[in-house]
Amino acid sequence: MADERPDTPNEKKEGPPQRSNEQRPPGSRPRRRRRRYQRPHDSSSGQGSSPQQQKSPPPKVSGETQRGEQIRLSSRDRQKYQLDLSVVIPLFNEEESLRELHAQLSDTLSGSNNRYELLFVDDGSTDGSFQNLRDLKRRDQRIKIIRLRRNYGKSAALSAGFEHARGAIVITMDADLQDDPSEIPALVQKIQEGHDLISGWKKVRYDPITKTIPSRFFNFVTSRLTGIKLHDFNCGLKAYRNEVVKSVRVYGELHRYVPVLAKWEGFTIGEMVVKHRARKYGTTKFGVGRFWKGFLDLLTVLFTTRYIGRPLHLFGFWGLVALLAGIGVDAWLVVEWFLGETALGNRPLFLGGILLIIVGIQMISIGLLGEMITKARHGDDGYQIRDHLK
Ligand code: UDP
Ligand code: MG
Repeated sequence: MADERPDTPNEKKEGPPQRSNEQRPPGSRPRRRRRRYQRPHDSSSGQGSSPQQQKSPPPKVSGETQRGEQIRLSSRDRQKYQLDLSVVIPLFNEEESLRELHAQLSDTLSGSNNRYELLFVDDGSTDGSFQNLRDLKRRDQRIKIIRLRRNYGKSAALSAGFEHARGAIVITMDADLQDDPSEIPALVQKIQEGHDLISGWKKVRYDPITKTIPSRFFNFVTSRLTGIKLHDFNCGLKAYRNEVVKSVRVYGELHRYVPVLAKWEGFTIGEMVVKHRARKYGTTKFGVGRFWKGFLDLLTVLFTTRYIGRPLHLFGFWGLVALLAGIGVDAWLVVEWFLGETALGNRPLFLGGILLIIVGIQMISIGLLGEMITKARHGDDGYQIRDHLK
């Protein structure tokens, strides 16, 4: 079932409803964090500062979403961030859904004193989406609206939202009511347990088969090539620690690969089964073309993560293979010619050898150029410091 909740925070990978699936870059040590998550309706809730409350351990059971459940962070996060939670919602022509979406979000979040913002990013809508948002904002000051000048695409919309998100934890979700806001507390809980990014998994999916089948294939290939064991890379519903959204650059159509980019930066990744619903209003904004673009983007992602710091390893290797093969083939033909067999002009393979040599040299040169660009790049050392104790 899509809405199952784990019994314990640290469920095992092999457990039937696989909800957590932590990924770490090789060699990195597990991150331990102490974060508190308290239920607001517990008898002695107060502000969480009474000694009694500080002593009590965080609740072991994660998940059941209660109305208006309170999100309480560690005091460090509370000091560092103005808000506990930012919900970033990219939207393009979703006028019919917005009122309902806002009501559902408020239902989940506004019951207690949560410090949150609803950051709607209008990605150049041409319908009444912006007007509807403005009307909603008159009633709810927690709504923030970013309106892009034209339709730049979901990645750009997310990127704008990420830049302006002030919450310690950032949730992304689609505006079309396909993602269920009541999952937010459980996602937040998962982050509190020590992950940097939790990706939703639409295990039971309400989309047409033309979308679900290619999507499975896409997820399988992406998972194999990137080594990240997620089932659903493209789920709109995800939760991040603020540091993640501030350090990952999402452009073009790379929103599908945020977990890959985040893992590359050294953040830990988990997965959680989330409810999914059929689209109620409007139509999907992505056609079948998305899969081709998606795979081209995968190449970009692989290149910009794995090989960005060492382009020669990619181009140089294949260049060297081609060069050596070309030299080998041609040397053999030249020897045969010396021994008096057919003239070189009668051996088409000779041209093939020459082609291999030229392509090999070209690829090695491209690799070297790439290395020069990498070295000349300023302002990016290629690493990030997590903590700096002095
Ligand atoms: N979206 C957007 N800009 C675009 C296309 C889509 O902000 O250029 C938003 C869209 O309004 C929705 C989310 O991205 O909130 C996911 O889009 P959609 O539901 O069409 O994708 P699907 O569910 O079909 O994968
Ligand atoms: Mg959708």
